[in-house]
Amino acid sequence: MSKRSVAAADVSGKRVFLRVDFNVPLKDGRIVDDTRIRAALPTIRDLVDRGARVIVASHLGRPKGKPSPEASLAPAAARLSELLGQPVVLAADTAGPSARHLIDGMAPGQAVMIENLRFDPGEEANDDAFADRLAALADLYVDDAFGAAHRAHASVSGIAERLPAYAGYLLQREADILQRLLDNPAHPFVAVVGGAKVSDKLAVLEHLLDRVDALLIGGGMANTFLLAQGREVGNSLAERDLIGSAAAFIDRARAIGVDLRVPQDVVIAAAIDAPSGDVVAADAVPAGMAIFDIGPATVASFAEVISSAGTVFWNGPMGVFERPPFAAGTRGVALAVAACPGFTVVGGGESVAAVEQAGLAGKIDHISTGGGASLELLEGRILPGLAAIPDA
Ligand code: ADP
Ligand code: MG
Repeated sequence: MSKRSVAAADVSGKRVFLRVDFNVPLKDGRIVDDTRIRAALPTIRDLVDRGARVIVASHLGRPKGKPSPEASLAPAAARLSELLGQPVVLAADTAGPSARHLIDGMAPGQAVMIENLRFDPGEEANDDAFADRLAALADLYVDDAFGAAHRAHASVSGIAERLPAYAGYLLQREADILQRLLDNPAHPFVAVVGGAKVSDKLAVLEHLLDRVDALLIGGGMANTFLLAQGREVGNSLAERDLIGSAAAFIDRARAIGVDLRVPQDVVIAAAIDAPSGDVVAADAVPAGMAIFDIGPATVASFAEVISSAGTVFWNGPMGVFERPPFAAGTRGVALAVAACPGFTVVGGGESVAAVEQAGLAGKIDHISTGGGASLELLEGRILPGLAAIPDA
């Protein structure tokens, strides 16, 4: 899936509309994690070095089609200025008079940022008139927003039909690495899938089942699999309407020889805010209690499979890792993935946060900047952001 690369574009002196994903987590107006800004730097630096006039554009949060000060990109513009070592001025609007004035005054090698794309209702609607206005700002379009690649929005889809479109380095790298998991993974290929709900992950489980050698299931979603095996899960989070799907999935895995593992022991408590939990066998969860993490025997079993993997893909925490009594399972899996000599990929908002919280991000081969986009790609779906860029 090699896309026409920004490297092949003649950008000198041109106005380049660069779509990035600077949807960074903020707390009290400060950036908590600037990974996504750093991840786009190679493309931004390359454009600046080659004398482009760079128009940086992103969404942030969910302002729902109207300007809101909490969703301003001001913190991102300030951080990008620091990282780039040159000023990046933020327009007061998205594609209005302020943005046009700034862009008109830009010299080659300068970068400006326009305000949050989602301040305009036309962005999420992929509205033609808004796409026209965005396209009118620039001569070329470069997409480096992998985190938004699963959204057919105006700055991802509409604009790419109106300007010569190229892939940035981050977009291409994410697409290459994730596509390789589907097409040509080094075996044994082990997928570790957790998180809250089976309904969020069933499509990716289905698409991976024929490709993996082992599938390790933890987190809240494992509870539905335990129910499918005839176990009781008390008050645990579970999706009873999906018990049949989980049972069919278990049968299919067995039929094709995939090593499917669900928790054999679990950490239970009466409530999520309990100060501590108890470890019990997965078939011994008392009524009135709920499962909040995988137990130590399960961690050991998962770690053993992971240790001999040629490829690991991990999405979704093994428990409620945000709370210390229920963080050990996720941490144990994070340590095992970090220690695996094979090629390791982590995708998903909370899973990535857990790896970073454990200080293990540097020991993972690829941390995806797009949770939703990485899942949809691995579900076998066509991502609008990739479809919009011509092949190389
Ligand atoms: P990701 O963002 O990595 O794709 P998800 O969004 O699917 O992951 O799920 C993450 C959430 O799942 C976490 O906030 C975590 O607290 C929750 N979770 C994990 N295990 C359980 C459980 N046993 N019960 C309830 N919630 C859980
Ligand atoms: Mg999530």
